[in-house]
Amino acid sequence: MIPSTFTYEQPADVSTALEIMSRAAPDPQEADGAVTVLAGGQSLVPLLRFRLAAPDVVVDLGGCAELQGIRDMGDHLWIGAMTTHHDVIRDPLVAEHCGLLAQATRTVADPAVRHRGTIGGSLAHADPAGDLPAVALTLNAEMIIDGPDGQREVPAGEFFLDYLTSALEPDELLTGIRIPKWPGWTFHYEKFNRTAQAWALVGVAAAVQRVHGDLAEVRVGLTNMGATPVRARGVEQAARGIPAQRRAVTEASRQASSGTEPPSDTHAQSDYRRHLAQVLTGRAISRAAGL
Ligand SMILES: Cc1cc2nc3c(=O)[nH]c(=O)nc-3n(C[C@H](O)[C@H](O)[C@H](O)COP(=O)(O)OP(=O)(O)OC[C@H]3O[C@@H](n4cnc5c(N)ncnc54)[C@H](O)[C@@H]3O)c2cc1C
Repeated sequence: MIPSTFTYEQPADVSTALEIMSRAAPDPQEADGAVTVLAGGQSLVPLLRFRLAAPDVVVDLGGCAELQGIRDMGDHLWIGAMTTHHDVIRDPLVAEHCGLLAQATRTVADPAVRHRGTIGGSLAHADPAGDLPAVALTLNAEMIIDGPDGQREVPAGEFFLDYLTSALEPDELLTGIRIPKWPGWTFHYEKFNRTAQAWALVGVAAAVQRVHGDLAEVRVGLTNMGATPVRARGVEQAARGIPAQRRAVTEASRQASSGTEPPSDTHAQSDYRRHLAQVLTGRAISRAAGL
């Protein structure tokens, strides 16, 4: 299909992008936004081609060099929103301080998608089946958002509002992601898909702080278990202070689906997703803890 007609803009910096977006800001009465941002285009271009999105203006962020790159900021990493999945995977800072992100990003789609798709696009798209939102939640990432009134920071826990809906306003840009370093923690991302390089039926991001023979703290984020990524708080509570043993982890992981509302679709029924969440959580925590 051919997209409907739009004006294509390619600003060279964020302030010009924001100016264009404010000028074209949507009428709140209209269902379709008047302006849409283009990052890697891996999710947006199909929407345009199927005319599920029909913006008047498309603002391509590809020319904004300031949105690319990864920097060590002391106690956290700053990752520019336009950094591609490919670059995240290869970055030594991410490997050293944020292995969970590298591991989960490696499971995203195929090399072609990973060369174009960006971390900012994946988070802004807010697809609960995407792998990175659950990782952002688990690692307490903060979204750096620029808009006409300046900059604000939104914790991942408040960023994902609903299915494909984030806290971004139509005239705002996600410019960067701040990811704390977690010294002394170990991680694992466990993804279940029917075919290689496909979306997750369910995914589990686990972070573990092991002290002597116990799991002192555990954090778990779930992919595709509701309209947004969710923390498995029941497991986190049940696993706090347990011995680092598989049997104890399996027992705590039974809480994985409590409070979730997984979808039923052509790939899996919600009951099956609940079962998967328990099994995968056990595996993710065990692998993160080196069991
Ligand atoms: C075949 C295929 C398989 C895939 N499999 C997976 C998978 O297994 N796991 C997974 O997690 N993802 C998967 N994806 C999605 C992929 O990760 C995309 O890269 C991602 O969803 C969108 O990133 P993008 O940079 O292409 O964003 P775009 O497609 O350009 O944008 C997506 C949305 O976010 C908005 N947006 C983008 N950047 C910003 C910004 N900086 N500020 C504000 N709004 C912004 C856009 O306006 C648009 O609404 C797959 C995609 C394809 C095509």
